[in-house]
Amino acid sequence: MKILVTGGAGYIGSHTVLQLIAAGHQVVVVDDFSNAKASVAGRLEELSGTSIPIHSFDVADLDKLNGLFDAEDFDAVVHFAGYKAVGESVANPLDYYGNNIGATISLLQAMDRHEVRHLVFSSSATVYGADPIVPMTEGLPTSATNPYGWTKVMIEQVLRDLVVAQPDNRIALLRYFNPVGAHPSGQIGEDPSAVPNNLMPFVAQVAVGRRDKLSVFGDDYDTVDGTGVRDYIHVEDLAAGHVAALHWIAEHDRTISTWNLGSGVGTSVLQLVNAFEKASGVKIPYEIAPRRDGDIAASVADPSLAHRELGWQTEKTVDDMCADTWRWQQANPQGYP
Ligand code: UDP
Repeated sequence: MKILVTGGAGYIGSHTVLQLIAAGHQVVVVDDFSNAKASVAGRLEELSGTSIPIHSFDVADLDKLNGLFDAEDFDAVVHFAGYKAVGESVANPLDYYGNNIGATISLLQAMDRHEVRHLVFSSSATVYGADPIVPMTEGLPTSATNPYGWTKVMIEQVLRDLVVAQPDNRIALLRYFNPVGAHPSGQIGEDPSAVPNNLMPFVAQVAVGRRDKLSVFGDDYDTVDGTGVRDYIHVEDLAAGHVAALHWIAEHDRTISTWNLGSGVGTSVLQLVNAFEKASGVKIPYEIAPRRDGDIAASVADPSLAHRELGWQTEKTVDDMCADTWRWQQANPQGYP
């Protein structure tokens, strides 16, 4: 297939691009590089051994998008492009609604005009809202606790409405749990542009000496050790989930499918810190800090639907995630050049 990957220069997008190429597909990337570095491109070409057309523009730009769809005969789209920082979304809600929803609408319009019917969308476990039943199953009601999360809830709804009007669409909503880790080469990985919001990149930056210590946000949750529990998923497993979903929707007649992509295993903040210390041999200094606004005690997937339908499940452990993150962080202490 010839596949358009929006946000293909970003963290999850870049890993997925490599796996799509490895599965024999042709890939074209659109990315505005608002949260990615140009040097990703060369590394992707080196690792894949092919040249990858990368178009640098905002997916919300419908004219440019239509031009690209005119020039290329896409079979499917994998849509990653979007803002993803929770705190920033609270401070700048209009940017988040405008960008995430606007880009998706433009993309859907261009797809419709060019009769491209297959779409894999990056959703998030954040759509299970403030008080989910754990482990989370796809049938739970959706809601959100911040504008970022609401953009995911709203885009899911847009897509559900769309397939009612256009039942020849084949759409996958992939609800990611907590993606971490890096490509085993150490050449591509997560490169936060500012102070990391997420636990794993923060821990990795402490380990490599860029930050003094970790703040553990709360130790009085009702969890194994009082710290927040999450379902960490290796970005390589997550990328494989996209390939599996793309193949599945090409072969089945269901208009819209929703799958959790998680491991089903919960890991606390302190358990992750311990695993990282073991993988790196570096002590991670930390202090207990107040709870972070909007955090929930535990978020763990029930990944059985994806396993049953896609034949997909995670292969990598938390130790693998830490080892690969550490390899990437050591090779690229300041991120991409
Ligand atoms: N966390 C933390 N310190 C940090 C960043 C995160 O203690 O500097 C905790 C956070 O409270 C949560 C877990 O680590 O319990 C995962 O947080 P992250 O932001 O990575 O993911 P999310 O909250 O989006 O699931």
